[in-house]
Amino acid sequence: MKELHASAITDAVEKLFIDAGYDLPAGVCERFRQAIGEEESPVGKEVIQELLNNADIATTERIPICQDTGLAIVFMEVGQDVHITGGPLHEAITEGVRRGYRKGYLRKSVCDPFTRANTGDNTPAIIHVDIVPGENVRIVAMPKGGGSENLSEVRMLTPSDGVEGVVKFVLEMVQRAGPNPCPPITVGVGIGGNFETSALLSKEALMVPFGRRNPDPAMAALETRLLTEINKLGIGPQGYGGTVTALDVHIESRPCHIASLPAAVNIQCHAHRIKEVTL
Ligand code: SF4
Repeated sequence: MKELHASAITDAVEKLFIDAGYDLPAGVCERFRQAIGEEESPVGKEVIQELLNNADIATTERIPICQDTGLAIVFMEVGQDVHITGGPLHEAITEGVRRGYRKGYLRKSVCDPFTRANTGDNTPAIIHVDIVPGENVRIVAMPKGGGSENLSEVRMLTPSDGVEGVVKFVLEMVQRAGPNPCPPITVGVGIGGNFETSALLSKEALMVPFGRRNPDPAMAALETRLLTEINKLGIGPQGYGGTVTALDVHIESRPCHIASLPAAVNIQCHAHRIKEVTL
């Protein structure tokens, strides 16, 4: 059985959050460049170019892409043939987040829900761990800003709402969000499961690379339809109007109870920060 010291996880998490805060993934910048060609509004084109310039400055000068450096979300796949030594997994991750936000001068954005007292180190992180076959540990870091997260929702639709009910829900959410989640956005849609799984599915959907369609042809068609209809809403880059409100829509789905049709929308802003490593 492979052994992995907890300190390696802490070091990896620290680096992932610093890198995520400063470097927009190449895939996101590439999608911005494509979107300049797709956007019909001159102001919209200019805004996307500014977002690219902003990303370049952040990478070159090693400063955060956005002042909101987010809640630290960690997705981990832990191989069942790995033995983590030297301390508890959750503490290793938490320490990595703590160090990353301190050393990277990333804003600490976590507080008590009512007193609003800041925890001071951006912990606790939101940690999702999955046990998978093999002896690798995959860590995905996704700092998520409050502006886009606030515009997300779970809705317990009924089976009779069907596909049209999901489309209506997603469009209503994006329309209601307007300029607030800093478009162009990426829309994660979770369909099925139950109340909490649909939310998780919608967040996992945000990790799918741009342009990759759901392997189920019906879901892939729904992704394409939603992207087209969202981009007809006219919200545009940063809400100045235009034809690129969303860069992509991804759906993750799973079977649900016969009485239910849970659906969730998780909106991601233009600062689509995500980094991963496999140990
Ligand atoms: S929604 Fe995104 S881009 Fe807008 S302020 Fe928040 S983190 Fe920054």
